[in-house]
Amino acid sequence: MNWLQQQDPEIWETIQAEATRQQDGLEMIASENYTSLAVMQAAGSVLTNKYAEGYPGRRYYGGCEHVDVTESLAIERAKKLFGAEEANVQPHAGSQANTAVYLSCLEPGDSVLGLDLAQGGHLTHGMKLNISGRLYNFHSYGVDKENHRLDFDQIAKLAREHKPKLIVAGASAYPREIPHDRFAEIANDVGAKLMVDMAHYAGLVASGQHNSPVPYADYVTTTTHKTLRGPRSGLILCKKEHLKLVNRNVFPGTQGGPLMHIVAAKAVCFAEAMTPAFKEYGKSLVSNAKALAETLMSAGLPLVSGGTDNHLMLVDVTALGLGGKKAEAVLEACGITVNMNMIPFDERKPMDPSGIRIGTPALTTRGMGTDEMKRIGGWIHQALSNSDDESLHQSIRSEIRELCKNFPVPAGDHATA
Ligand code: PLP
Repeated sequence: MNWLQQQDPEIWETIQAEATRQQDGLEMIASENYTSLAVMQAAGSVLTNKYAEGYPGRRYYGGCEHVDVTESLAIERAKKLFGAEEANVQPHAGSQANTAVYLSCLEPGDSVLGLDLAQGGHLTHGMKLNISGRLYNFHSYGVDKENHRLDFDQIAKLAREHKPKLIVAGASAYPREIPHDRFAEIANDVGAKLMVDMAHYAGLVASGQHNSPVPYADYVTTTTHKTLRGPRSGLILCKKEHLKLVNRNVFPGTQGGPLMHIVAAKAVCFAEAMTPAFKEYGKSLVSNAKALAETLMSAGLPLVSGGTDNHLMLVDVTALGLGGKKAEAVLEACGITVNMNMIPFDERKPMDPSGIRIGTPALTTRGMGTDEMKRIGGWIHQALSNSDDESLHQSIRSEIRELCKNFPVPAGDHATA
């Protein structure tokens, strides 16, 4: 029985249409992925009915005996997966995880270092409209003008100058491996704590494709829905000595009741990420990104930093006389979803920047490999080089629809679990 379709056909139709969009097109937004049906089923379960303010064994509500087990399993799995001393699995999202860490170790007005939003950082790393930029005194570091790699001389200099209480590492649009040991060294030198926001590459850490921040950082935050392939949510890992304050600043500091259905879905995702199949996924994710990057570069498209080490790349589309906004729209017309993105030292504006960000997490989940990446790279180049040729875009669209038929998304025909 499809209860939703019967009771609320309007909403059902939006979900069904989205399911078709996800199956028929190439999802190349670097922060998106497809969860397993098991994750979706946990997220759509009766646990959504339960209030469970507090933590396992110390709740403010009765009837928590089963969700206590759920949350304890999620905590133990998160710790095991990443080799962390402690974990808080309650943050509703990555932004909440970051905010709770800030409240745990900073006072309003304290000095913090974070990566510039325009050079790959995230809103929660000090953007002036975000709570991080409104409460704390963030100073931005950036990348080197020539090679687009993190500029550690600048980071060390800013750290000596501003004596931050916290250094934030991690990025939303940085195509290279992040050397956490170098951040730890600088934080150590100036007596700052280190927080690593591995939201984008958590799945690469879990699968052994990226060095882990856990041994180096006081706090590690992440989303669980990007390369980690879980439900939309957040997670904090930390050293034992920080757990009490982290817990207090998630609940009651910034949140009320945890979303227990999502906590359950996170537990399922953590177990999946410990399997040999997920190790293979991580490997393919990176080799796919490399194959795509090489295809684009050999067609003459410049990539920020000259390539990628991880799951994403930034293409400078101004080389083709385009802006990011138009490039995004052209690819959308072909059935390829990406997002426009600033590139380092961009002279254009955020609403029409010089670049697009492309990622391989979702297509790799569908089982596509390097052969498909080469084909897709060819289409991207062809479409962007002929940005006003609508009939070409339509013919690419048809080829993509055919390709997609051979790579069903994990949910198959299921719009809901
Ligand atoms: N941190 C980084 C590095 C991110 O890229 C993102 C999301 O894009 C977040 C945090 C925030 O995650 P959420 O959208 O779940 O709040």
